[in-house]
Amino acid sequence: MVRSQAAAPLIDRMMTPADYSLSRPCPLGRISRFDYETTVAIVGFGAAGACAAIAAADAGARVMLFEAGSHSGGSIALEGGGGEIYLGGGGGSPQQRHAGFEDRTEDFHRYLLMAGGPDADEAKVRLYAGNALAHFDWLIAQGVEYTDAYVADHGLMPLNEECLGWTGSEEAWPFVQAARPAPRGHKPRHGGWNSGKYLMDVLTRQVHARGVDVRFGARALALIVDEDQRVHGLVVQADGKPCFVRASNGVILCTGGFIRNREMVQHHAPRLLRANRPIGALDDGSGIRLGMSVGASAIGMSEGFVTLPWYPPESLVRGILVNERGQRFINEDCYHGRVAQFILDQLGDRVWLLQDVETYAPGLLHESAGIGIAATCDSWEEVERKLDLPGGTLVATIDIYNRHAARGLDPLFHKTGRWLKPLDKPPFTVLDCSVDRAQYSAFTLGGLATLASGEVLTEDHEVIAGLFAAGRATCGLPRWGKGYSSGMSIADCTFFGRQAGQRAAT
Ligand SMILES: Cc1cc2nc3c(=O)[nH]c(=O)nc-3n(C[C@H](O)[C@H](O)[C@H](O)COP(=O)(O)OP(=O)(O)OC[C@H]3O[C@@H](n4cnc5c(N)ncnc54)[C@H](O)[C@@H]3O)c2cc1C
Repeated sequence: MVRSQAAAPLIDRMMTPADYSLSRPCPLGRISRFDYETTVAIVGFGAAGACAAIAAADAGARVMLFEAGSHSGGSIALEGGGGEIYLGGGGGSPQQRHAGFEDRTEDFHRYLLMAGGPDADEAKVRLYAGNALAHFDWLIAQGVEYTDAYVADHGLMPLNEECLGWTGSEEAWPFVQAARPAPRGHKPRHGGWNSGKYLMDVLTRQVHARGVDVRFGARALALIVDEDQRVHGLVVQADGKPCFVRASNGVILCTGGFIRNREMVQHHAPRLLRANRPIGALDDGSGIRLGMSVGASAIGMSEGFVTLPWYPPESLVRGILVNERGQRFINEDCYHGRVAQFILDQLGDRVWLLQDVETYAPGLLHESAGIGIAATCDSWEEVERKLDLPGGTLVATIDIYNRHAARGLDPLFHKTGRWLKPLDKPPFTVLDCSVDRAQYSAFTLGGLATLASGEVLTEDHEVIAGLFAAGRATCGLPRWGKGYSSGMSIADCTFFGRQAGQRAAT
């Protein structure tokens, strides 16, 4: 908290960046002169920061954007950044309707609520569910191109010029019971696997076209606050020196999550340490720490997105996953991110994906994900011995699964009939998905508590004047690893980035 400033000396401008701390705000009264004056200052030039800047500029504000790196893009512009956005409702996007899906807003709303888990943010879900199609039109108006092509296969996302695909657990139990399913992952036309870079290039052009003053190599070091805790600006490191920025309407933190800050992960989300491949641009939690330094509440901090791309091809979904007790633990037709969460919940690291000759096909990403073949055997007894499982456990699991699957049922985990087939045709292939061997990717979902407008909240649910946040620096629409669906983060960053930009500007 800020101490009384009455007797504090003015800040010596020869102080170095090391004299500032993310967790200690800089008192306004100690700054004799500002280096920059603007209406809105944004920190971070990823998806959230770009959309906040465009919206703030469109609302008439003078905007400065500070990015620690040397270029725009953030996490989604990294290699493999899909640029996929999760949207629907309103009867369906043109792509959904073209593919024959009517996606009612109430179904989209119910799915988002369930995907948000026990602490879903109803206000954010309601706002997004009712406005996702208008947001899609906004992205298109910025110049992002989408085709009408739909991919029916259960995959990670459309790979080429196709746009629409199934990227969540919509058709799987228990989600299918809550909401009528529809495919909602919308990927831009260009860029293939790397369409995130394309998306960010389009948004970057729009930021520059609006005359936003962008500073690269400028890292935020501390917030500037008055005695009432109102945020007036920030201290940034530029050219090795601290610079003082006054932002008359406020600061928007769009700095991403904290998966690369090992100390923070250890403290808030130790379970995510089991995922051995952190993904994200900087993701050092600096924005979250800046917010907390002025009394912001950080929520959902233990949650993260985790994945192991064990499918496609979709035939692999017809196999089963077992733990080191030889037991199943989930309906395997769920989204890969939900499955990975359940894998992390198992006691022990060993997990295998079992296939018979009719379901097995080499996985598209198995090599890069470190999923190897552990065994190929002619009987399940032999598999059980090879994996050194307690006698009879795997054989019993297979027996129960096969007996019910033959009748199109899965009474234990409710896998849907389309994916059920007795695994009874040798040779049997065992794929090693063990947590200590395969590559589990992860990023964090917890962050600053915000209103749907982007205003940052204290633990008492009070707005901190002059402070806004969006994207993975916040706990947003996606906040429960077991409900995450591909495209939800970009939906959250771009849509709520716009809300924050607009609110800060006006
Ligand atoms: C390979 C990959 C594929 C993905 N695919 C998808 C997908 O298809 N769909 C989807 O929804 N999500 C996807 N995600 C997740 C999604 O990309 C991210 O969650 C999202 O882009 C986060 O955006 P952001 O703007 O909040 O933060 P970021 O993109 O992380 O941007 C934050 C920016 O702030 C800067 N910064 C941080 N701290 C400071 C500081 N102190 N001062 C100044 N600048 C700072 C960083 O350098 C960075 O440029 C993917 C992630 C990865 C890594």
